[in-house]
Amino acid sequence: MIGKKNQGKHIMLELKGIAASGGIAVASVLRIHGQKAVKGFGGDAGEARKLYFELKKQAHKEFERLAGISRETGNGDMSGLFDSYRMMIEDPNFEEAVLGRINRGVALSDAIRESGEEMAASLVASGDEYIKARSADVMGISDELIHQLSELNEPETGEEPKEDILGTGPYVVIAVRLSPTQLLRLDKRKIEAICLSEGTVNDHTAILAGSMGIPCVVGLGPGLMKEGTERIAVDGTAGMVYLDPDNETVRKYLDVKESIRLRRERARLRLKDRPVTDCGRTVKVCCNISSPDDIDDITANDADGVGLFRTEYLYLKGNDYPSEEEQFESYSEVLRKMKGKEVIIRTCDIGFDKAVDYMKLPVEQNPGMGIRGIRISFERPEMFKTQLRALYRASVFGDLKIMFPMISSIWEIREAKRYCEEVRSELDLEGKEYGDVKIGIMIETPSSALLSGEFAKEVDFFSIGSNDLTQYTIGADRINPDISRYYDAYHPAVKELIRMTVENAHKCGIKVGICGELASDENMTGFFKEICIDELSVSPSRLLRVKLDLLGD
Ligand code: PEP
Ligand code: MG
Repeated sequence: MIGKKNQGKHIMLELKGIAASGGIAVASVLRIHGQKAVKGFGGDAGEARKLYFELKKQAHKEFERLAGISRETGNGDMSGLFDSYRMMIEDPNFEEAVLGRINRGVALSDAIRESGEEMAASLVASGDEYIKARSADVMGISDELIHQLSELNEPETGEEPKEDILGTGPYVVIAVRLSPTQLLRLDKRKIEAICLSEGTVNDHTAILAGSMGIPCVVGLGPGLMKEGTERIAVDGTAGMVYLDPDNETVRKYLDVKESIRLRRERARLRLKDRPVTDCGRTVKVCCNISSPDDIDDITANDADGVGLFRTEYLYLKGNDYPSEEEQFESYSEVLRKMKGKEVIIRTCDIGFDKAVDYMKLPVEQNPGMGIRGIRISFERPEMFKTQLRALYRASVFGDLKIMFPMISSIWEIREAKRYCEEVRSELDLEGKEYGDVKIGIMIETPSSALLSGEFAKEVDFFSIGSNDLTQYTIGADRINPDISRYYDAYHPAVKELIRMTVENAHKCGIKVGICGELASDENMTGFFKEICIDELSVSPSRLLRVKLDLLGD
């Protein structure tokens, strides 16, 4: 809590949290209390064990249903999440912990909750930010099992239902924590914002809120759940929340909300307008996607193409390497749906913050500097060639460009191109068709920016990964919130490397885009126009706003 304002009898509480998804809301409150207490099944361990397996079956079905809903509503990433929940629920350590407690006479719901908490606590203790954020997923799974149990039973304590709603909505959801499953069960049309006293920006709930376009502030502390709050004002961009805001605050935020709405309206009317840079180049505004399911969203908003298809999702969702056919299907679907517009597909960038059990990656002291990006492809040639074969075969369906991540030396791009040649020769021999595929690299290390003049002679395009470029230029871990003040994407050194890359690319006649988070930062629009950037690729929910910024609206 950072402030209290007393206006007559009216007390407004001001809380500062972590901004997880931008936007403004002023609404009444939907308070989510978490799972209600349910019958224990402490007496008969055999019965409780049987029931536990039944709950797992029900939870599987529910995750499958939610994965389907996510796909239908254009939240492709989330469908992958629910698929991964179905795997996580089978975790033998979790199961052993639950069954062990049952055998010791612990009531079923307590056994599930305690095992979830124990596992979540060990993830938090890992110290790794990405792994820490997964603790919310573990709690999401144990909450779901308890939810299934509560569906079968009356509350044991006769306590209040788990939701308090003031009015009929729209409302701001407040909770200590909220699993993606709980979020998807709510009526999305009524949710104006989400505020959580726990959580990090890496939580899947925060990511889901962002992809649903719902403002979200996390890490607000226990003050958020203060009893008696009737109305809330939320600034998801600044991470500010006002409990029972005074009239002046309400007016201020309603005005901001209205101006955002008007801006969106104007953006829709200007969808066909083409923004240009200071030197007169047309700027493409494209989207970043993680799965073919994201495409419908972006075609509706008339994106100029896919500027970055992060293919990691294909590797993360299963428990083995994705097959050539599976990948071919996904890439073809995206290319077909984009109807001839540019589609830049990045080869696998697993490693660092994204790990997959079946890959059995080495445990590294410093994974950000380790086996990630193109390095993992070189380490696993079969995996690399499978992906390239799928990509080349799919290329007949549209305008495919292949992009390699984390290239930092010239030999690396030459080696990657050699793999492409090898794959093309194989396809020739097999009589399989492929299109004219352009090759590009991500500029995300200082070395590739500094050598961009040389790299420009080797490839057809660049895309600047500002998230990693910032991390490696400043030497500040992008996923460690404790050092976020050092991780400064506006750092003059980062801007200089971006400027240099664009200049060198243009001298050699190739185009440059930006696909990191900086691409959608409104404070950078002027800079990008000044350096004559060719493309900005942003998340689908930001497309309209970025286009308007570029048009100077
Ligand atoms: C980047 O580094 O800016 C980028 C777009 O790649 P990722 O965020 O997937 O590492
Ligand atoms: Mg990157």
